[in-house]
Amino acid sequence: MRNPTKSNSAAETKDDRILGVVEGDPGGPTVVVVTGLHGNEPVGVDAARNLYEMLKDVRPQINGRLIILRANLPALEHNVRYLDEDMNRLWFPSIIEKVRNTPEARIKSNERRQMKQLLPILDDIEERSDTPVVLADVHTFSAEGSMFTITSSDPRQRELLSNLYVPMVYGIEKSLQGTALGYYQNQGFISFGLEGGQHENNLTEYNITASLLLLLYAVGSIEKQYVEKIKDFERHMKEHTKNLPVETELVYQHIIEAGDGFAMRPGYANFQPIKEGEWLANDNKGKIIAQTDGYILMPLYQRQGNDGFFIIKENEG
Ligand SMILES: [Zn+2]
Repeated sequence: MRNPTKSNSAAETKDDRILGVVEGDPGGPTVVVVTGLHGNEPVGVDAARNLYEMLKDVRPQINGRLIILRANLPALEHNVRYLDEDMNRLWFPSIIEKVRNTPEARIKSNERRQMKQLLPILDDIEERSDTPVVLADVHTFSAEGSMFTITSSDPRQRELLSNLYVPMVYGIEKSLQGTALGYYQNQGFISFGLEGGQHENNLTEYNITASLLLLLYAVGSIEKQYVEKIKDFERHMKEHTKNLPVETELVYQHIIEAGDGFAMRPGYANFQPIKEGEWLANDNKGKIIAQTDGYILMPLYQRQGNDGFFIIKENEG
């Protein structure tokens, strides 16, 4: 790793893929925070940087390791979701194998070159960890409305993530093909997506910072006395999400085909209740009507993206 020591804040450049590493007591958990898989989501990077600044010099030192990464550097630089292809739809074993075996100069897609640079860093983290690596993949979204996590309903994950006081959504991790979190879940990581809020909402950075710190507390990297903010963060997150369903499940995903002219009707926000038959969006074929009751999730209000919206339902089990 390029930055194996705890303080690298002096020399951060736009090329730094490893944004910060906090090395604490050996034998503790390894937490990896991946930011910027989508380049139009820089708030996740800022929040992860806050976390690093809070913890880099904390004493007693943290238990285990915290590693903060930026994934798609050129897309972040241009503030676009991606340059050539969606970097969070590429994590198929066949593509990864090909990327690993092709010299970087011969890879045409920016996102695959980014992947080529990211893979050895994650390989190294995995190799050096005796316990499962916890990987938080941080995103933001275009609609207004509450943050949530994308996770499997595995009891181990449910229990861990319930400490964040962020609504948990099950099933999206299976329906979205080729995500980094899906790939690393199959590699034995405890991985989840943290969808931290609207791209530019004032609260998004604070909420992501809070959730990540609560994650570190939940896995045992830090103890309450290390960071006074934990209590505030906990109180804030409980208040912020108190009217939302704790556990939900995906029931419908609207996939956009290239050139189909998808346009979400205005005014939808995450966790807004919808009714079967409700007119949600339009495309070239006409009206798109809700197939079921539920809550709407991630209605698309930006140009780039393959998913028009999701519908989730409160988890009964
Ligand atoms: Zn994203």
